[in-house]
Amino acid sequence: MRLVVDLNRCQGYAQCAFLAPDVFTMHGEESLVYDPHPAGEQRERVARAVAACPVRAITAEGLDSPRPAPVASAGEPSDAR
Ligand code: SF4
Repeated sequence: MRLVVDLNRCQGYAQCAFLAPDVFTMHGEESLVYDPHPAGEQRERVARAVAACPVRAITAEGLDSPRPAPVASAGEPSDAR
């Protein structure tokens, strides 16, 4: 997942920092710091933050892709003939 916040648009409402505190942090009253590559388990929180931002400053790529499917074990080829 990749995140971009348009800091020219961001008004420091801190909705994102409230909803996804491991990804978005307020420094001072208006300065937002964020993780541009949050871990996959933050997906749901990030989605809420994107939806909650009053000025739609947050763009997230890879948010609406489905959860990654469990990786099939590739160790044992089913070669029973
Ligand atoms: S919710 Fe939007 S406006 Fe508020 S701090 Fe986050 S990015 Fe900025």
